[in-house]
Amino acid sequence: MTERDIYDILILGAGPTGLFGAFYAGMREMRTKVIEALPQPGGQLAVLYPEKYIYDVAGLPRILAKDLVKNLVEQCEQWHPTFCYEEKAHQLERGEDGVLTVTTDKQAHYARAVVICGGIGAFRPNRLKNESVERYEGRGVYYFVQDKRPFFKKRLLIIGGGDSAVDWALNLKDYASHVTLIHRREGFRAHASSVTELMQSSVDVRLWHELREIHGNDHITGATIFDNRTGEETYLEVDYVLLNLGFKADLGPIKSWGLELDGRYIIVNGRHETNIPGVYAAGDICKQEDAEPLNLIAVGFGQAAIAVNHVYSYLTGGRVFPGHSSEMRL
Ligand SMILES: Cc1cc2nc3c(=O)[nH]c(=O)nc-3n(C[C@H](O)[C@H](O)[C@H](O)COP(=O)(O)OP(=O)(O)OC[C@H]3O[C@@H](n4cnc5c(N)ncnc54)[C@H](O)[C@@H]3O)c2cc1C
Repeated sequence: MTERDIYDILILGAGPTGLFGAFYAGMREMRTKVIEALPQPGGQLAVLYPEKYIYDVAGLPRILAKDLVKNLVEQCEQWHPTFCYEEKAHQLERGEDGVLTVTTDKQAHYARAVVICGGIGAFRPNRLKNESVERYEGRGVYYFVQDKRPFFKKRLLIIGGGDSAVDWALNLKDYASHVTLIHRREGFRAHASSVTELMQSSVDVRLWHELREIHGNDHITGATIFDNRTGEETYLEVDYVLLNLGFKADLGPIKSWGLELDGRYIIVNGRHETNIPGVYAAGDICKQEDAEPLNLIAVGFGQAAIAVNHVYSYLTGGRVFPGHSSEMRL
């Protein structure tokens, strides 16, 4: 058998909770590995709302979600954790020696403790089944905005009726040269004040409309939309199509790891331990039995600190209290 490279702590998920957990693990001098299914850190912040301001992170009156992710990465990288991106964890097993093995679609990872920070699970966007959409996916058709620069002074068609569609239409209306938003119904599933702002804005809103086909050659040049009440078609000149049709999140394989669950939540105690020795959970993925979960970044930060400092004590028998970082020389 080849030598196993056993880390002290393996953090599953590089959302804000996992990133802050990696910082704390480094501060406690634990050898740390982070596994993330997506190609990038940041979890929901990076995928769902990178360009939105967050107002409820302590000490930061307002910060763009993508900038908070950048800061969290910089903060934890002081300790050089090992990051493994584009690896979705499928299996968790605890050996007789107490070593935990997390198997991803690529390889097996070993650690003496695991903190599951998987948020709402690995998520994927709801897709539109349309041959022309599939043809241009990643070449002009997007399901998420990770970088808004391609849309600068371009004609954009946004499809959807939820918060993401409305927010992106408002965010990009003065950045793109023209924004059209189509929605297949009359009512939006978005914040009422955002809908009011949208209806008074320069965004060309077309209700009861759906996409028929995207046109172009090596890039998109236009799209045909239709009124789903009359069937009447309209051709729009557009350069990009953004589909905001919601997303599905699924705990997926995590459900079969023998963890005590309540719906989509992993049950933890006050130390953020799960029912499996050496396995902890923090952030949006967990709840305490007698408490209502509060799925917020600030809460995940606190839980990450609690979980990781208890891991330190579990592994070394040392004190849970980490000392004050202000008294350390980082
Ligand atoms: C539109 C929107 C706006 C929000 N605004 C705010 C706000 O203003 N303030 C606030 O406090 N909160 C806000 N939230 C909530 C906040 O984003 C979450 O509370 C926070 O992201 C939870 O962080 P997390 O790290 O626990 O989980 P996540 O951010 O969900 O990250 C979990 C990570 O784990 C990864 N993962 C999951 N399963 C696996 C697996 N099997 N293998 C490998 N990796 C896996 C995922 O890919 C993901 O990257 C908002 C949420 C949304 C959707």
